[in-house]
Amino acid sequence: MTKYIPTIGLEIHAELATRTKMFCACANNTDEKIPNTNVCPVCMGHPGTLPVINKQAVKLVLKMGAAAGGKLADFTEFDRKNYFYPDIPKGYQISQYKYPLVQGGEIDGVALTRIHLEEDTAKSTHDTGADSLVDFNRAGLPLMELVTEPVIHDAQTASRFAKELQLLLQSLGAGEANMEKGEMRVEANISIAPEGATKFGTKVEVKNLNSFRAVERAIAYEIARHTKILDAAERAKSEGGAASVSATAEKIVQETRGWDEKTQSTFSQRAKEDSHDYRYFPDPDLPKLYISEISEFSLATLKAELPELPWQKRERYQKVYGLTPKEAEMLVGSPEVGAYFEAILAGLAANGTATSGAVDPKSVKLAANYLLSDYIGLLKAAAVEGEISVEMLAKIAPTAFSELLQMIANGKLSSRAAKDIIAIMYAEGGTPQVIADARGLIQKNDEGELKKIMAEVIAQNAKAVADYRAGKAAALQSLVGQGMKATKGGANPEILKKITLELLGA
Ligand code: ADP
Ligand code: ZN
Ligand code: MG
Repeated sequence: MTKYIPTIGLEIHAELATRTKMFCACANNTDEKIPNTNVCPVCMGHPGTLPVINKQAVKLVLKMGAAAGGKLADFTEFDRKNYFYPDIPKGYQISQYKYPLVQGGEIDGVALTRIHLEEDTAKSTHDTGADSLVDFNRAGLPLMELVTEPVIHDAQTASRFAKELQLLLQSLGAGEANMEKGEMRVEANISIAPEGATKFGTKVEVKNLNSFRAVERAIAYEIARHTKILDAAERAKSEGGAASVSATAEKIVQETRGWDEKTQSTFSQRAKEDSHDYRYFPDPDLPKLYISEISEFSLATLKAELPELPWQKRERYQKVYGLTPKEAEMLVGSPEVGAYFEAILAGLAANGTATSGAVDPKSVKLAANYLLSDYIGLLKAAAVEGEISVEMLAKIAPTAFSELLQMIANGKLSSRAAKDIIAIMYAEGGTPQVIADARGLIQKNDEGELKKIMAEVIAQNAKAVADYRAGKAAALQSLVGQGMKATKGGANPEILKKITLELLGA
């Protein structure tokens, strides 16, 4: 059988978090529950109304371009994309065709073709009974469209790219990009071609992908479907000669397909339109934009306004604090967990574990360990679905977490006690010092007291002492172990060891 190489290109739409809609003053509120409340003659497409460009939306797209290292447009304009459907009251969607705001750039190793700005359509609901319903709250929301080059070759890379884009949108404050709410919508173009082929195969476009898992599964499904079709054609050819192939074999047709979550499969929706079907032309109601003449939109200004980007944060956590790639990913991949982590560090800095404002790498590493292994471990075990929410994290205040870490650093808590206290704070609330006092979890660091205990242990373990003197290193551990037992595990093992060595005259 021939080996096939899959090729994938993504088209991702994301609603931008502006205060108002793209071309009118209606509120941009994706949480609005009452249909058709955020509407006006402009976004309802009434004749005689005129659109006004939302400057903030333009700026957010340019910022995305600056973050991705793309080329920002000098000149841009908006075009009318003409088609008829109840969700598009004007009979056209205002979009960008020839002059996208951004060209090129790269995110997570995937080359971008373009990023442009358009308006969202209204939301249709077809499954409520005999009638279809249309909600125009969504009509005219600023919508960013990002198109990648066909450079992705597996499903996992595609979904990872989409996730990275979501993180970027969130970190720039450009959008919440919640896929379940439809704030970010992914379309995947997929084709396969024999290894070494110089041309791509016929592509299909899959829509309705509203989770990262759906992106991954739909792509894998299509790759398998295409492979099966081409394999069958190859078999038919070798068995019955070329003539029988066209008569019997199924073909890959260029089309738009939908993803069915229930059956975990794709289904044919419609034949693909070509861009000339839309009769694009520049919207005469909107001014042309000379981006390079607006200083607020200059690359230097935009770059200066960029926050730390997800990939920069990953690198900082690893390089500066020595976190593992997995730890860095857990912190960056979940903005909620990341913010909680930063709050813990802020607490440490405020309480003086910091030197000149920055928390020392050792404490940061410790914070990452207890947060990611212990606390998140608890939360994950309790959560029905994997995502960790702000509400879940809030069960332990970050300040309490900082206090706990300081107690560990000061030798007041053993790691066993610290883990227990995390579980207690999670289940019952409270703060570490109070819990530790109440339950006798404070480590015994008093050298005088420990010396007395250890002296007794040494007196009662003549054999171990003799073994130690004869050069058996394990005998020391056994003596320290006896000391730990005598203090019911409460002693600081490091101090105990030091005292034992002193008493043995080592
Ligand atoms: P169309 O004209 O059908 O919209 P485009 O050339 O504009 O196609 O590309 C749309 C998306 O499809 C882009 O993300 C692009 O990378 C991707 N793409 C184009 N050709 C292929 C192909 N043969 N296989 C997979 N993806 C493709
Ligand atoms: Zn409006
Ligand atoms: Mg296209």
